[in-house]
Amino acid sequence: MRAMPQHEVVTRFAPSPTGRLHVGNARTALFSWLLARRAGGRFLLRIEDTDRGRSDAGHEAALMEDLRWLGLDWDEGPDVGGPHGPYRQSARGALYEEAFARLLAAGAAYPCFCAEEKLAAARARARAAGRPPRYPGTCAALSAREAGRRLAAGEPAALRLRVPAGREIVWQDLVRGRQAVRSDALGDFVIRRADGTPAFLFANAVDDALMGVTHVLRGEDHVANTPRQLLLLERLGLVPPRYGHLPLLVGADGRPLAKRRGDAAVAALREAGYLPGAVRNLLARLGHRGREAGWLEPEAMAAGFDPARIGRAPARYDAQALAHWQREALARLGDEALWAWMGTGAPALAARVPPGRGAAFAAAVRDNVLLPREALVWAERLWGEGAPEPEAVAALQGAGAAFLEAALAAADAPDLRQAAARIAAATGRRGRALYLPLRAALTGTTSGPELGALWALLGPEGRRRRLRQALDRIREETL
Ligand code: GLU
Repeated sequence: MRAMPQHEVVTRFAPSPTGRLHVGNARTALFSWLLARRAGGRFLLRIEDTDRGRSDAGHEAALMEDLRWLGLDWDEGPDVGGPHGPYRQSARGALYEEAFARLLAAGAAYPCFCAEEKLAAARARARAAGRPPRYPGTCAALSAREAGRRLAAGEPAALRLRVPAGREIVWQDLVRGRQAVRSDALGDFVIRRADGTPAFLFANAVDDALMGVTHVLRGEDHVANTPRQLLLLERLGLVPPRYGHLPLLVGADGRPLAKRRGDAAVAALREAGYLPGAVRNLLARLGHRGREAGWLEPEAMAAGFDPARIGRAPARYDAQALAHWQREALARLGDEALWAWMGTGAPALAARVPPGRGAAFAAAVRDNVLLPREALVWAERLWGEGAPEPEAVAALQGAGAAFLEAALAAADAPDLRQAAARIAAATGRRGRALYLPLRAALTGTTSGPELGALWALLGPEGRRRRLRQALDRIREETL
């Protein structure tokens, strides 16, 4: 067991495959990826599946799909391999056993036979007395013979790391600056559970060291693990990574995002039609000060990434900011790409928009669409059978059948300007009195994309169809 030489920046994302990737974890992954890419280093994916009951392969595959969709690629991982594998903790048992054996041989760890109920009761007593709930050290003093006898008798035992008294454990946190914790506050902690599985903080720290990880960025919910992990790696003679703890993400209501589900899952954003660049641009700014205001491609995003600029206050995730970045992302798509995006998110569009008009449709409605389902609403308005909205009905009734007849007579005009001139000549209406009922007839609503573009998009047959529908409605008074 040897630590890697540390000449290169190596970061990692180490998810537990117990659910879908959530925007909070996605930000952690993005920040770690940016740190590696900025330095021309390596980014690893490690699956932390020691909690067998809660981990499953389906979640692992979904996590990878979500990460790839976000544009995060990894240089080493369970699917691509690499020199530090295996990359699933469930397959690294032999490495952990070797580390346990070394700690036991050195007297740095000892078996603990305390039953969980007794420990829970001790913790409760400590809390009630206002003391930190530390392990009281019951099994620390057992002689090797006594411990050996009980193990041989088949008594279940966890393994605890012996924490030295009177030490100060210090680290320079990449985000929070200097941190110092007194070892006396920690208590001997479990590194292997009684069922033989490694404790999270053990496998996590050992793997970072063995995989040559130099920088760990993770949520601040892990900050209490860090002094323990530093002590453990010291006992094993392994080089620790530098740790940085990211502040929590909260929703617009100030509540931690991790407590919510659904809308905060990366997959839900993708399925709704948000673009990966929009999500990246949003996440890159959550808690990171001093970012340029404008859109960033991944390379520029990496160049400007600096853990020292990550704040300590909770970062706010809000839907309005996401809408802003979505608009920016859509503005960067050409008409064909925009049409393809619409169709992927709303397959019903293909049947609604006439063949060959997809890109023109996308161009006409692009400023009015943030998500594919909104594009479908526009296609329905232009080519569907739905009833007009109440304001459109009022505009049509105000203009009357004679106006619609004049518009129908001008339906073959090649552009809106010429059509308007003809309708104005026939009806005396101009300006808003002309355009509002015309828009109401063509789209069934009173606002939306530029009317000239819609006029061209519908074509003579489409225009006639819409105008006739409106006229029939007025005549039959079905409005
Ligand atoms: N598997 C841990 C988690 O998902 C990883 C923590 C870390 O990044 O060190 O929270």
